[in-house]
Amino acid sequence: MLRIGCHLSSSKGFLAMAQTAQSIGANTFQFFTRNPRGGAAKEWIQSDIDAMLAFMAGADIATPLAHAPYTLNACAAEEGIRSFALNTMKDDLQRLERIPGVMYNFHPGSHVKQGAEKGIELIADTLNRVLWQEQSTTVLLETMAGKGSEIGRSFEELRRILDRVELSEKMGVCLDTCHVWDGGYDIAEHLEEVLQEFDDVIGLCRLKAVHLNDSMNVCGSHKDRHEKIGKGNIGMYAFERIINHPKLRDLPFYLETPNELSGYAEEIALLRNLFHI
Ligand code: FE
Ligand code: FE
Ligand code: ZN
Repeated sequence: MLRIGCHLSSSKGFLAMAQTAQSIGANTFQFFTRNPRGGAAKEWIQSDIDAMLAFMAGADIATPLAHAPYTLNACAAEEGIRSFALNTMKDDLQRLERIPGVMYNFHPGSHVKQGAEKGIELIADTLNRVLWQEQSTTVLLETMAGKGSEIGRSFEELRRILDRVELSEKMGVCLDTCHVWDGGYDIAEHLEEVLQEFDDVIGLCRLKAVHLNDSMNVCGSHKDRHEKIGKGNIGMYAFERIINHPKLRDLPFYLETPNELSGYAEEIALLRNLFHI
């Protein structure tokens, strides 16, 4: 069965997200843990979480993927920005214990002139301070396009972070199709080789989720501009192969394409049609 959903606004709460997911034909979804631009998070209402979990069980909607605010930078040069990232991740991970089986995806960060090695060190250091032995949430590093000084532009950079994390069994990776494409991995013409490389460098056992986005730019552009599925340079045929690939087809897929809800509903229906049962 194809597990697919999209990024949804959390402004109306948890139950509302699960209901919205169902209304657009999704059977999972992604949400920001707080305002994506950062700042204080609203209180999470336990009855709302419980209502979401009950609704999801009845509607066969899988546990959502939580996304950290994309403004977090765990490897900033400024100590204040780093400690904001640290405290936000700590708080998010505490909260997420209330959603059984949830995973928490974040952008590793931008090293801003400190160099990739220093950036990797700082990110791993942050992770070593926020992860704890008894936590149930798996934390995912997202593959990045390599815009500016973004860390995570190559599988090797993610591997080097993972190598430094003490509780690395709590860690996984989320592959963003637009980002890896923009990062220089040709998943349109060479999907098999890219997955082999992922397996050799990181290990496919670490791959826990896929962000499905087409790209407005060419492979290796390091731009990070998402496009609707089939309307960009990756192309429909590549997405058909991605969702059906034996090494990917059982993973949850999340759309982050430039769409309103109706556009997401169309893309979900389209991809379901392309999924081989
Ligand atoms: Fe992301
Ligand atoms: Fe993404
Ligand atoms: Zn992106």
